[in-house]
Parts: sequence; C-alpha cells; structure tokens
Amino acid sequence: MILSDEAIISFLQISSVPYEENIHLSAKTWIKRGGIGRFFIMPKDMEQMKTVVKYFLQNKTPFHVVGATSNIYIQNTCDLHIVISTLNVDQEEEFDDYVICGCGVNVTGLSRKMVKNGYVGYEGLVGLPGTIGGAIVNNSSAFGYSVCQMSKEIYCIDENGNDLVLSSDDLKLTAHSSAIKTKENRCIVVGAKLLKKKGSVEDLKSKSEKYQKQRASLQHEIAMTLGSCFYKLSKSTLLTILLTVRFLTRKTIKIFCSKKVQEKRLERTLFYTLSGYHDLARYVDIIQPNCFIWRDEKADDVFFRQYLPFMKKYYKAEDLEIEIISDDKI
Ligand SMILES: Cc1cc2nc3c(=O)[nH]c(=O)nc-3n(C[C@H](O)[C@H](O)[C@H](O)COP(=O)(O)OP(=O)(O)OC[C@H]3O[C@@H](n4cnc5c(N)ncnc54)[C@H](O)[C@@H]3O)c2cc1C
Repeated sequence: MILSDEAIISFLQISSVPYEENIHLSAKTWIKRGGIGRFFIMPKDMEQMKTVVKYFLQNKTPFHVVGATSNIYIQNTCDLHIVISTLNVDQEEEFDDYVICGCGVNVTGLSRKMVKNGYVGYEGLVGLPGTIGGAIVNNSSAFGYSVCQMSKEIYCIDENGNDLVLSSDDLKLTAHSSAIKTKENRCIVVGAKLLKKKGSVEDLKSKSEKYQKQRASLQHEIAMTLGSCFYKLSKSTLLTILLTVRFLTRKTIKIFCSKKVQEKRLERTLFYTLSGYHDLARYVDIIQPNCFIWRDEKADDVFFRQYLPFMKKYYKAEDLEIEIISDDKI
C-alpha cells in the first residue's frame, strides 16, 4: 500500500530531512519545466539519502530521484508526487588514492579540483553539467573521459532497499547509458569511490583547457538546453540536398550582407524555412542540430510539433538520449 501524505510528512519531520511541499518544479529544474511537485525532498548527506530511499522502497511508494536535471525534460503538464533531489548530497571525503563522493557532487567542480591537484582522468569532464550520480546512471562522457571509468566502487540501494556495492562492470555500460538507466538494474546511486592517480599538473591543465575550448566552440547555449537530444544522427538524402542549397545561398547572402551575425541569422532562417519547419530557426543550436533550446514558453509546442518530426525526417533520429517525463509513472 502506498504511503499516505501524512505518513510521509511524519517520517520526514522525525528524521529531520529537509523537504518542501507543493512546489513549482519549473523553479527547480535545469530547463525550468515541470508541473507541481507534491514533495520535493533534499537529503543532507549520503546517510540521509539512504534512509529516505530505503523508507520509500520498503513501503513500496514510487519516487523520482533527480540530480541537476540537466538531462530530464519534465513537461509542464506533469505533476510529480515524490521527487528526491540529490543536490545536497555533495560531500567529498579525500583519501590518498581515492575520494568518496556523495551522489550530488558536481562533476565539473570535482573535475576542476582533480586537474588542479594533478590527478588524471578528469581533464575532459570540466564543463560537463550535472552530478556524480547522474553521470554514473547516464554513463556521461566527454572527449573519451567518464565518471564511470574513474569509479572503483559505486554505492547503491537496490530495489528491495538493501545496500549494494557495484563496480562499473556491473553497470553494463553502453554509450551514454547503463543498466540503471535502462532500468534493467533498479538501483539508486548514493555515492561513489573515485580514483586518484597522480599525473603532471601542467599536462592536465593544458589538456583540460583544450577540451574546454572545444566544448565552448560546440556549445553556444548552455542554459535551457539538455545537451544532445538523440543518441545517433545520420544524414538523409533530403538533408544532403538541403545542405547543398544552404551552401549556395550562403554564397549569395555573403554578397548582400556585410555583418557576420546577420549572415548567420538569415542563413538559419532560410535553412529551416526550406526544410518546412521554419519555427526551428529560433530553437535549435546554431551549430548542433542535436541540441534544442527551451528558450521560451512556445518551445514546448515547437519541440513536439516541429523538432521531433524534423530530426526524424532529416537526421533519421529515432532514440532520445534525454528523458521526457510526462506523467507520474515510474
Ligand atoms: C549544456 C549541456 C552539455 C552536456 N554535455 C554532455 C556531454 O558532454 N556528455 C554527456 O554524456 N552528457 C552531456 N550532457 C547531459 C547531462 O549533463 C549528463 O547526462 C549528466 O551527467 C546528467 O547529470 P544530472 O545530475 O543532471 O542528472 P539528471 O538529469 O538529474 O538525471 C539523469 C538520470 O539519472 C537519474 N539519476 C540521477 N541521479 C541519480 C541517482 N543518484 N541514483 C539513481 N538515478 C539517478 C535520473 O532519474 C535520470 O534518469 C549535457 C547537458 C547539457 C545541458
């Protein structure tokens, strides 16, 4: 039997777990989307995270665990009953050869520190948004680096509410996914033991700077995007035709436009108008078609009505990398 709201409140208060009731999820999520969250629970550390997760699992009451929500699109029409945010489970405990991180530790912050202190394996992860927990579940990676490959032990709670220690091999990792993401393994990550291996500070700093520059050149807008929307893109014949037309018009536009910015804007408008999806010019990243920008209120409609069909037609994009939550079904 699912727990009553009164029982949940009583448990949270007795256990001194910080929580809010009936909040607008749009105030808490990366792309400012989502309906009402009946309970928004923010455990303070790994121990409290374990207590909270075990309580709901043992009482067979469904819940959502979220990190920085940099890969989740909760629709505005979607109200969620119980959301557990890991953002305050952000403690780090340093040892000689490893660091124990709570699931809410910020990946960029940790990686920056590792680079500064001369530990290898994190140089490509500066600039990757989100938490350690989210990065493990999503097997997030950049420039050949990933949190999973640095994880020696992953501390989890299994679906029956028992403590479990996993290795990255147990996660059956694939590109940007894991057995936890596919729900083959219904674990909640509470923390991880990450390796510290000495390298040259100068070398790591220069690599990290190079990757950050590369990231900046690929990503123009960080706020209000979820990174890549699809796992795999490939060019359709239609896209090749469209790109050829764009190339020819670019040359023409250059003759009439003196300013580079105007040139780009005009080129984009023309490109999406020719494709039959003219609204997209405002909502798709200028370089990365795989990156949608939830810029304003109209974006939700544009995403479903124009972006998804456009990506399917021109880029043969089928499988979403981002997670869309449209109702409170776990
Ligand atoms: C600008 C931008 C750039 C990006 N660049 C990259 C990139 O280079 N490479 C890349 O791989 N990704 C990238 N992403 C995607 C995203 O940042 C990563 O997937 C990130 O690791 C998600 O972390 P999060 O804390 O935001 O997770 P969330 O989005 O909050 O959650 C992701 C999933 O993990 C689950 N989850 C979160 N924490 C836990 C936990 N503790 N236990 C169990 N389940 C949990 C959630 O339920 C959800 O299913 C980018 C996103 C943005 C916005």
